[in-house]
Amino acid sequence: AKGQGRNAYALFDTSLRDQVRDRMNLEQALRSALSRGELSVHYQPIADLATGELDGFEALMRWQHPTLGSVSPLDFIPIAEETGLIVESGAWLLREAAGQLAQWRAARGPGARPLHVSVNVSVRQLRDGALVGVVRDVLAETGLPPEALWLEITESGVMEELETALATLDALRDLGVTMAIDDFGTGYSSLSYLNRLPVGIVKLDRSFVCEVGRHGANESIVRAVLAMTRAMHLRVVAEGVETELQSDWLREQGCDLAQGWLYGKPALPAEHDELIHRATVR
Ligand code: C2E
Ligand code: CA
Ligand code: CA
Ligand code: CA
Repeated sequence: AKGQGRNAYALFDTSLRDQVRDRMNLEQALRSALSRGELSVHYQPIADLATGELDGFEALMRWQHPTLGSVSPLDFIPIAEETGLIVESGAWLLREAAGQLAQWRAARGPGARPLHVSVNVSVRQLRDGALVGVVRDVLAETGLPPEALWLEITESGVMEELETALATLDALRDLGVTMAIDDFGTGYSSLSYLNRLPVGIVKLDRSFVCEVGRHGANESIVRAVLAMTRAMHLRVVAEGVETELQSDWLREQGCDLAQGWLYGKPALPAEHDELIHRATVR
């Protein structure tokens, strides 16, 4: 038994060392990812539940490493945040996404429903003084109306440093961009701070959406969130909508927008070329 314990310990020790080494390798590789052109942006459609029309896209970062293959943002975004690399790559993504949106809007012509693009902004970017200037520059370069640019922030990210975040968020609001709370329901979910933040959109987390339409326990929570956001004149995006059952239920409850595999997976811009000209998402 004693030997076993030693082995178990040795095993743990090795895997811990591996983890540290993997992490350092990943960090090293991430430092050069942007300049080597290994980062790209995928876009996932966001649909108007009432009409089925395309309303916009969420821009999601992708990293294709030459030997590791595609690395999940769940693995590299936290490293990018801790190392501060997110500031540079985030600014790059903002430019890419705004430029892509301007191209799509031009391709659709002036009579079409105006599309938005939604970009994830980490707490590290909110803390960094450069973000407001980057957003201002990107709007000027692309000529996009500011409200077409949505910035997604997480509840926990904002709550972590409310005072610093508030100053940045107010400056962004003054630019006229649309602020969205991401993963709503998973963080602190204090109703009072929703009132304090210059937010126009709430993105309801996938964990609440996955059970709706099947008399799941979360239905009453989703109903309550929809009632509250309606009273506050906020629009809601349901995340992770995968089935017709879910979209039907959400539409009946008066949810505004939906995003998920039912409408399309994140993909490169070229894969959405046809969707841009279609009347409805599906
Ligand atoms: P998120 O912002 O909550 O993004 C939604 C995630 O859910 C995406 O994963 C998307 O591919 C996935 N998803 C969308 N529809 C469905 C669905 O119907 N079912 C299921 N099961 N999943 C769905 P992804 O692209 O792997 O991104 C993971 C997270 O990484 C994002 O979560 C976001 O927090 C972070 N992230 C991605 N790109 C960026 C970025 O550019 N900047 C920052 N700061 N974070 C990013
Ligand atoms: Ca998001
Ligand atoms: Ca989310
Ligand atoms: Ca999430």
